[in-house]
Amino acid sequence: MINYTERISLLMQDVVGRTPRLSFIDLKEVLVFGRFGRSDAEGAFATCHCLTLPESEPGYYFWRDRSTGELTRRSEWFVTKSPEVHVGTQRIKYLISFVLPRFCDQSLERTRKGELYPAVPGWLAKLDTIVHELYHIDPSEAGIRAVARSDGTNSPRSHGPLFYEEVAEMVQDYLATRPDPALCEFLKDDFDGLTARYGGIVGATFRNFPSFPQRYQEVVDMPAAEPRVRLEPLKPPTQPACYREDDLHIRQFTDTGARRLTRKGQHRAA
Ligand SMILES: [Zn+2]
Repeated sequence: MINYTERISLLMQDVVGRTPRLSFIDLKEVLVFGRFGRSDAEGAFATCHCLTLPESEPGYYFWRDRSTGELTRRSEWFVTKSPEVHVGTQRIKYLISFVLPRFCDQSLERTRKGELYPAVPGWLAKLDTIVHELYHIDPSEAGIRAVARSDGTNSPRSHGPLFYEEVAEMVQDYLATRPDPALCEFLKDDFDGLTARYGGIVGATFRNFPSFPQRYQEVVDMPAAEPRVRLEPLKPPTQPACYREDDLHIRQFTDTGARRLTRKGQHRAA
């Protein structure tokens, strides 16, 4: 089977090496993983998740009486934090997720992106998406380039008017450097094509799949300003705050879901 996330990482190495505007990216700090999403459903193809956003200011939830407007209940104080992800001794700063198998079936046909690429093969949409997600990494290490939401994902507003044009330019400049065609080969097949050729596609996922490292709330011990208002305890976190290499599991992605491979499967040659 083909390890799709590994192929993307290899291609990213080459793209970053040949693209001056992305050369500041240290891919040791970037981890590529798979999320499940059907090809025939609407939704993102990929997302850049930042793990370096600072802890939020302390806050709390509150409830008011609908008629009197009076404060009736409030939650404990909490801060919102980024989880930690470590691979070996390396702390990961960005995660880039690809939605599989949907991403495998991305094409330029009948898309807005297609207008930026006249007369080129449809699979370039996938290369465009890869460059697009890399371009979200902020050179100033301040999070996601431009506007970032508090949950660590990129907001649609982080795409300024020139974002798509700049990405298309980088894709064309990259191809003009005549990279080894073998690196992009896997993008030319759609999901059915890959399945026929390799017998299936696998990719890195997190142990708590379909979840993955996400911003979480942690209770902080601070006195309530309104001591007579009922205090609601915050729900205990359901996901880990720290992930290590052992928490990465290889899963096979199919039309309908993803399943963990047995150890034997993991070692089968891709
Ligand atoms: Zn984007």
